[in-house]
Amino acid sequence: MKDCLFCKICKKEIPSEIVYEDKFIVAFKDIDPKAKVHILFVPKKHIQTIDHLDLGDEKLIGALIFAAQKIARKKGISENGYRLVFNVKKYGGQIVDHIHLHLLGGQKLKGIV
Ligand code: 5GP
Ligand code: ZN
Repeated sequence: MKDCLFCKICKKEIPSEIVYEDKFIVAFKDIDPKAKVHILFVPKKHIQTIDHLDLGDEKLIGALIFAAQKIARKKGISENGYRLVFNVKKYGGQIVDHIHLHLLGGQKLKGIV
C-alpha cells in the first residue's frame, strides 16, 4: 500500500529501530513507548485490521505471536510476563490501519480487561 506508514517501515522507506525481521514479518520499537518494552510486530503484507483477515492468514497471525514470544524471551521479560494486544478499528483504539501486534512488558502493567 503506497501511503501506509507501516508498509513504508517494512520497506525501510521510513527509519525505525528494527528488532526482528524474517520473510513475512518486521518488528520494531514503538516510537512512543507505553511500557519499558514496547515493540510492534507487523506482517509485510498489508492487511488493514484483524477484521480484514481472510482464511489463509492464520499462519501469518500465528507467526506474529511466535515472533513476539521469541523477542520477549530475548529481551528477558518472559519470566515475569508481558501483554500482547491487537487494537481493532476505531473503538478498539487502532490508529495505524495496518495490522500490528503490540508487545508490552518489562514492568507490571495495569489491568485493562
Ligand atoms: P495503534 O493505536 O494503531 O494500535 O498503535 C499504533 C502504534 O504505532 C502507536 O503505539 C504509535 O506510538 C506507533 N507509531 C505511530 N507512528 C509510528 C512511527 O512512525 N514509528 C514507530 N516506530 N511507531 C509508530
Ligand atoms: Zn500497510
